[in-house]
Amino acid sequence: MRFVHESHAQRVHFAPGSAADALAGEIERLGARRVMVIASPSAGAVADRITAGLPVALRHDEVVMHVPTEVAARARKAAARAEADAVVSVGGGSATGLAKAVALTTGLPVVAVPTTYAGSEATAVWGTTEGSRKTTGTDPRVLPAAVVYDAGLTLSLPVAMSVASGLNAVAHCVDSMWSPGSDPIDRALATEGLAALAGGLPLVAAEPSGLKGRELVLYGAYVAAVAFSSAGSGLHHKICHVLGGAYRLPHAQTHAVVLPHVLALNAPYAPEAETRLARAFESGSSLTGLADLRRAVRAPRSLRDLGFARADIPAAAELILPVVPPDNPAPVTRAVLERLLSAAWNGDDLA
Ligand code: NAD
Repeated sequence: MRFVHESHAQRVHFAPGSAADALAGEIERLGARRVMVIASPSAGAVADRITAGLPVALRHDEVVMHVPTEVAARARKAAARAEADAVVSVGGGSATGLAKAVALTTGLPVVAVPTTYAGSEATAVWGTTEGSRKTTGTDPRVLPAAVVYDAGLTLSLPVAMSVASGLNAVAHCVDSMWSPGSDPIDRALATEGLAALAGGLPLVAAEPSGLKGRELVLYGAYVAAVAFSSAGSGLHHKICHVLGGAYRLPHAQTHAVVLPHVLALNAPYAPEAETRLARAFESGSSLTGLADLRRAVRAPRSLRDLGFARADIPAAAELILPVVPPDNPAPVTRAVLERLLSAAWNGDDLA
């Protein structure tokens, strides 16, 4: 057993019903006196409530998915004008992503209050988009200094979005099994994360206003993202990155649709991953485990439903091929990718 595992230093609160207190404690620890709060208009009321006791210098509400470069530039300018000394983000991966973009060029510390299960708050990965080109990078400055999870803040996330976002977290676990940087610690975390997600998501779908499922999914999403942050992007994330960037498909839903097809391709070539995933799903195989979970939560089915055109499959396969990780468990050719995308477009049942 020979590997190097790098952990990130980050304080994490699981504080149901107590986001305001946890947030105030973190801002005090940072010694911040002029806080920039990033929250989309839809998260405005929640952000107002949990930041009421903070020294807020600026509220910024221009939050756009995949952080267009001009949106990032405006946020950075606003932070400079307000002489902000810390950033608090309240929202999903898009709000966290904008806070990271500000941190990237200003070095300001970020405290993230996530309201979806995207997991961006646990990674040092930033991303911005220019036109249809998404650029990503890794920089320790963008990793939030602290994260405050309050499951109560996810109660308002609609069931369909909760399911898609939760399956995005499941994808972090699955890809962490075979991503280029995957090590035994990542795989242990991914197994733990998947067990929590597989247990919690059906509870969220059945009773969206219940806290128990929300708490489990939030915990699973965090552990999943910690694993993924170390393991890096595997085939699944490479495919979704191309589909999201070049074809503007919605992030979480695309992950939810593509995942079973990547699992079906790789699992036969990855016996250790198969054993771990099947155990976490408490199922005879990873594929049936994922299929049963998807049925229980009525997961999004097909790329067709997300607005992807069948005619774009060959071009998409062409874009994905050069970014396929060379050590992906299953061999990947253009024909394999076209078959995978066709099955995902169609929403084929795999188990
Ligand atoms: P999002 O942040 O865009 O949120 C999706 C929708 O849900 C939005 O309309 C938002 O207003 C709404 N919403 C969020 N929280 C809510 C709540 N509690 N109640 C009601 N509505 C709520 O989407 P996302 O899936 O969370 O994040 C996607 C973005 O995050 C993408 O840009 C993706 O690339 C990025 N991401 C980055 C990483 C990383 O490691 N850097 C990891 C995962 C995702």
